[in-house]
Amino acid sequence: MTMALTIVGCAGSTAGPDSAASCYLLSHTDDAGQTWRLVLDLGSGAIGPLQRHCDPVRVDGVLVSHGHPDHCADLGALDVLRRYGPSRDEHVPLIPLLGPEGIDRRIGDVSGDPTDRGAGTYDFRALAPGDTVRIGPFEIEAARALHPVSALAYLVTAGDTRVLFTGDTDRCAEVDAFAARATAILGEAGWAHREVNPPGVHMSGDQLGRMASEAGVERLIVTHIASWLDPEPTLLAVRAHAPHAVLARPGDVHEL
Ligand SMILES: [Zn+2]
Ligand SMILES: [Zn+2]
Repeated sequence: MTMALTIVGCAGSTAGPDSAASCYLLSHTDDAGQTWRLVLDLGSGAIGPLQRHCDPVRVDGVLVSHGHPDHCADLGALDVLRRYGPSRDEHVPLIPLLGPEGIDRRIGDVSGDPTDRGAGTYDFRALAPGDTVRIGPFEIEAARALHPVSALAYLVTAGDTRVLFTGDTDRCAEVDAFAARATAILGEAGWAHREVNPPGVHMSGDQLGRMASEAGVERLIVTHIASWLDPEPTLLAVRAHAPHAVLARPGDVHEL
């Protein structure tokens, strides 16, 4: 069985007029016919369009790359949906929430109650680089990403498909090692808007294209281009090295 990747939101740095910030839905149907769903990031604005693609309170896990708002601001919104929404009186299981140490505190930062960790909605497990976790058919491996705050990249395997989700990262050996094992890459090119990129924050289109090309991965979905920019020049820069690369667009579904 293949994996399907739905682009829920792909805008970088903030939500934009036509897209929520970082949020993706991975689904995989196992041999018994059960479909499993994993949310990758829950950035600002994502809880809206996520409801077009699934019932967010019934997903099988939420994976967060790091604590910037464009990647985790709507963790609190999913908590509200679960506590007050139509499923509030049903005994829906807690949602496994995986991410760097302290991600659960971001829920309280948004709700205004610093003690609020979303404990009635999430079963939080802090991940460190090198950790491997299994949720249903998904094997999830974490690696250190190169970003100004504690950040993880993920390699998610189900069946014969291995997807690298870079989160936010400059190019680095740990993420390169995941790329070398991946069959598909959902990769950020967040430095589209700078001529000279400060190190340790994002990749440019050129860097992302080179990473995929050197890893020998043809399936490349380019994302996290700043919400205020035309993404086409970045795509051209990526395609100079990875000619099959495509842009992430909200609502698109990729069979991987
Ligand atoms: Zn970001
Ligand atoms: Zn970031």
